[in-house]
Amino acid sequence: MFDRARAVIPGGVSSPVRAFNAVGGTPRFIRSAAGPRLTDVDGNTYVDLVCSWGPMLVGHAHPEVQEAVLAAVARGTSYGAPTEPEVELGEEILARTPVERVRFVSSGTEATMSAIRLARGFTGREVVVKFAGCYHGHVDALLASAGSGLITFAVPGTPGVPVSSTELTLVLPYNDRAAVTAAFAEHGDRIACVITEAAPGNMGVVPPEPGFNQFLSETCTRHGALFVSDEVMTGFRASRRGQWGLDGAVEGWAPDLMTFGKVMGGGFPAAAFGGRADVMSMLAPEGPVYQAGTLSGNPVATTAGLATLRLATDEVYARLTAAGDTIKAATAEALSAAGVAHTIQSVGTMFSVFLCEGPVRDFTEASRTDVAAYAALFHAMLDAGVYLPPSAYEAWFLSSAHDDAAVQTILDALPGAARAAAR
Ligand code: PLP
Repeated sequence: MFDRARAVIPGGVSSPVRAFNAVGGTPRFIRSAAGPRLTDVDGNTYVDLVCSWGPMLVGHAHPEVQEAVLAAVARGTSYGAPTEPEVELGEEILARTPVERVRFVSSGTEATMSAIRLARGFTGREVVVKFAGCYHGHVDALLASAGSGLITFAVPGTPGVPVSSTELTLVLPYNDRAAVTAAFAEHGDRIACVITEAAPGNMGVVPPEPGFNQFLSETCTRHGALFVSDEVMTGFRASRRGQWGLDGAVEGWAPDLMTFGKVMGGGFPAAAFGGRADVMSMLAPEGPVYQAGTLSGNPVATTAGLATLRLATDEVYARLTAAGDTIKAATAEALSAAGVAHTIQSVGTMFSVFLCEGPVRDFTEASRTDVAAYAALFHAMLDAGVYLPPSAYEAWFLSSAHDDAAVQTILDALPGAARAAAR
């Protein structure tokens, strides 16, 4: 299957990390999934710790999501006109987050791209600040690497991104207040927005230091810039109300704009951006900032997202916490017993495992993780029937369908895998 795939799709995959390049070996082609498990085309079954990179919060093929989706499909799959499910999903998002208006798109990339355009349109400024190691999708301006100095403008992070797309982007070290202060001192009146993962999960899980997001929000406000909190990964995942539920809701502040994806699409291509009503009203057709999409707010996708969020009750997050705590403790114990340096970091129900000493506070520290040891751990887990993320820099995602039997499969696999990582 991989040979056939490579003959028709570059690398055989529709998104690079799926190709197993970071861990070696042949990617598994998945035929079906149910609850906490994946089954590949050869009939092998794995306990899934990727969960489609986050969306499958209530597990695969949840009967209630399936029923809602099948009923939606029977009513037709796209109309290019406003629908009830998108309004209901919007209401659910407004109920859980501080956003006052929300606009639907089809991917997290579109959400962050549109949020940045809106921030630039609203402020009349052009500079965007992001943090090294934060991923916001494959938006040209955000596929940027830090320039040569701390507050010099960025350079393209990949061929194909023009210099002109990143020369208005500043890339700063995460969790570094001094760098943010310096960037605003130098360029404050040109900065349209600061965009950050609400809690980074794309360099492994790196918690914001206490008060860091509030500091970003206040700094932006003081300088007339917007604070864009990217909750594509953490939204409805880190907690019922995302990362904002863990800091902003407690500390009493709200981002100007937020982006969502993954869980809110229930496994379908749906994402969103939202925020302050006055900022969102700058969007067409209310305002002059253009943004659109043929399949935006698709009725099947928004139905799946709505069904998923309605299932995502406090009990679901309690289950994720309990299963996560068990797996984190067993992972730490197995790695310690095998003598493998490790650091396990969490934000709410999200966690990841770095194979290096911690704490890991930014991208430079995350880069110390032992990728060869991770590859050994990954393959030993795979051989034992557990599908970890095929990259050392990713969160391990659980679902509420990870029952005791699924967790036990993981616990049984860990000691041997830790020994493999020690070699
Ligand atoms: N923002 C964050 C925080 C993400 O984790 C991702 C994807 O992993 C994106 C944006 C991009 O989303 P998508 O892959 O749906 O374009």
